[in-house]
Amino acid sequence: VKKKGGQYEKQARPVKQAAVLGAGIMGGGIAYQSASKGTPILMKDIKDDAIELGLKEARKLFAKQVERKKLTTEQMAEKLTNIRPTLSYGDFGHVDLVVEAVVENPKVKGAVLTEVEGLVGEETILASNTSTISITRLAKNLKRPENFCGMHFFNPVHRMPLVEVIRGEKTGDAAVAATVAYARAMGKTPIVVNDCPGFLVNRVLFPYFGGFSLLMQQGADFQRVDRIMERFGWPMGPAYLLDVVGLDTAVHAGEVMAEGFPERMGSLGGEAKGEGGGKSAIQAMFENDRLGQKNDKGFYAYE
Ligand code: NAD
Repeated sequence: VKKKGGQYEKQARPVKQAAVLGAGIMGGGIAYQSASKGTPILMKDIKDDAIELGLKEARKLFAKQVERKKLTTEQMAEKLTNIRPTLSYGDFGHVDLVVEAVVENPKVKGAVLTEVEGLVGEETILASNTSTISITRLAKNLKRPENFCGMHFFNPVHRMPLVEVIRGEKTGDAAVAATVAYARAMGKTPIVVNDCPGFLVNRVLFPYFGGFSLLMQQGADFQRVDRIMERFGWPMGPAYLLDVVGLDTAVHAGEVMAEGFPERMGSLGGEAKGEGGGKSAIQAMFENDRLGQKNDKGFYAYE
């Protein structure tokens, strides 16, 4: 951890218009949170149905606020207009900060970031919501790496207070300052961290998932492990948490972590290393399209 966010904010350029790339679990949540706290946001995806799902989720969250009498229906309608769904980059010329939240794949993220960098203004900040991929690595092909940093939200975005703001080798102070200020404007608690695969939280979390994966390989019952971790005092066990994260995202992120820290990580994807051997149960579930809550079937079944 480098510095607390507050030290950067004095220099921050305000984010008046934001954009998010990807309308999935995270992109939808980021759009809702930004809209809810009053910063207009463009929500771009490559698929119509993803946009629909992102909007549906935002509507559901706003409707809950109405139910709890925290918003009137008029206020809800007004806040919803802060989210502008789109399949094109048409209005990206006027965006102050773009959060990239597409699939956890370095090649896809690299291509998307290069593409959007060519369309935005010279001072626009690009921030990646990657869970694990080094910011320095993602900055490799950017023309303005000083304008790029990590902005790592946690799932579900509307409930989790923490945001990791990650400073890559070439990230400039202005990018950190604007991202910290935007996170605060969204009602979050930003911390500024150094760059490495998994940053701070996932460096702690992924070895835990790896340990769970090895336990499963040795025949442990996932429901019992979940129950025991809940008794230990955690809000949910590893199997349920993996369903929330998405098994596809966990496998991809696990690959990045295993590459970064081979000595510390059991493998979530591919062939599990160490005791047990063979294919990891998490990889097998991913290959069988059991992706967790996003498609209603993971360790558990959802409606
Ligand atoms: P997701 O699969 O729910 O959504 C990804 C979305 O990106 C999809 O809607 C897909 O259509 C879209 N997409 C793909 N290529 C695109 C492109 N070129 N332009 C625009 N959209 C594109 O995934 P997610 O769980 O929302 O994860 C997104 C990112 O956030 C990943 O980097 C992930 O590691 C990170 N993240 C995930 C979690 C989590 O718990 N799921 C938590 C923190 C960070």
